[in-house]
Amino acid sequence: MQQFDLIIVGGGLAGASLALALRDTRLRIALVESQPPKRPDGWDARIYAISPANIEFLSRIGAWRHLDASRIAPIRAMEVFGDSGGKLGFSAYETGVPELGSILESSLMACEFWESAKRQSNLALFCPARSEAVEFRHDAAVLRLSDGTLLAAPLLVGADGRDSWVRESASLSAINTPYGEKGVVANFVTEKPHRNCAYQWFRDDGVLAYLPLPGNHISIVWSTPDAHADELCALEPGRFCERVAEAGSQTLGGLQLLTPPAAFALRLMRVPQTVAPRLALVGDAAHGIHPLSGHGINLGFQDASTLASLLSAAQPWQDIGEMRFLQRYQRARREETLLMQSTTDGLRRLFRGSSPGMRPLRNWGLTLMDGLPFIKNALARYALGGI
Ligand SMILES: Cc1cc2nc3c(=O)[nH]c(=O)nc-3n(C[C@H](O)[C@H](O)[C@H](O)COP(=O)(O)OP(=O)(O)OC[C@H]3O[C@@H](n4cnc5c(N)ncnc54)[C@H](O)[C@@H]3O)c2cc1C
Repeated sequence: MQQFDLIIVGGGLAGASLALALRDTRLRIALVESQPPKRPDGWDARIYAISPANIEFLSRIGAWRHLDASRIAPIRAMEVFGDSGGKLGFSAYETGVPELGSILESSLMACEFWESAKRQSNLALFCPARSEAVEFRHDAAVLRLSDGTLLAAPLLVGADGRDSWVRESASLSAINTPYGEKGVVANFVTEKPHRNCAYQWFRDDGVLAYLPLPGNHISIVWSTPDAHADELCALEPGRFCERVAEAGSQTLGGLQLLTPPAAFALRLMRVPQTVAPRLALVGDAAHGIHPLSGHGINLGFQDASTLASLLSAAQPWQDIGEMRFLQRYQRARREETLLMQSTTDGLRRLFRGSSPGMRPLRNWGLTLMDGLPFIKNALARYALGGI
């Protein structure tokens, strides 16, 4: 049996960032991942808007400066449109920050984290490795891999994504509410420059976001009912470009497809208990959120950041797998996660509601907020991850 201080199951963005954040600690870490990340040819269709708070976290753990800057686009402004004339605009300048966030590809970060993890002296990588069984004993979590390897540590972290095997093995419940929607993602070349502005439209058929990428490129996320998402993905490329350009009111002129559309199912997932004796969950294993706020991985990075701070500050004699210790992590993350989930869910409901009285009201609300700089800036700061 190989002994560690911490086992992390899942080397995606949440799990790998947690491992990197613990680089300078005395903890001996095992990172178990079923498949290493890879970089696609051209552009990755999975794109994230990273909040300033998380850029700061990634800088602190030494990952940000290694990312290829030519593949990162800062967001300098954002425009949000209601479904009948409402409009709300944010700018980095008005908010008093250099940028509202940055857009970059998932695999760009994943591959960089992976390379750093390989060089980390207090980290043992088990990859490709399939987890077969886990046992939570009173003093240790014991993980068996499919090749028979046994790993033991006082704490095991489940960072294995939304269908978390670890969560299920520990019988921690997850309350799933499918949205009946998919997030359609694709990248485009735009006719007009985006000037580093992100756009979001609340439409009858869902929420469409244009996110700036370097050069005249954008990425879109169109969260829309399943049938419409399937219809969009089945369109021939020229027609799909027209539909996305029309839905975005031709704001950036004509569009040319860079990566074919892909769709992923959306669901709200609440996990009432994200810790148990010898276990903590981070990232998508601990929560699912509608992508309209772009906060999915931002919440995951904050989980990693919070847990890493607690683990780094723990005394050598402290048992990091006991509930009293782990409850501090759960308490620290619960409020932000719940608030984000409720806010995005509420916004989505507000704009999906079909009541005729709601439409003018919600659009008026957006425009009203646009005229109240104090509230608007507070909202922008909050949305950006507590800067
Ligand atoms: C198909 C799809 C497309 C998406 N596209 C977007 C998008 O465009 N924009 C956006 O903002 N969000 C998108 N999301 C959501 C976003 O990807 C997640 O919020 C984010 O990846 C969560 O990171 P994570 O590290 O918590 O989990 P994951 O990225 O799911 O990582 C989990 C890791 O654990 C590994 N793993 C799983 N089980 C085991 C096991 N038993 N043993 C060992 N390793 C294991 C997996 O291989 C994986 O590397 C998408 C999600 C999906 C499913």
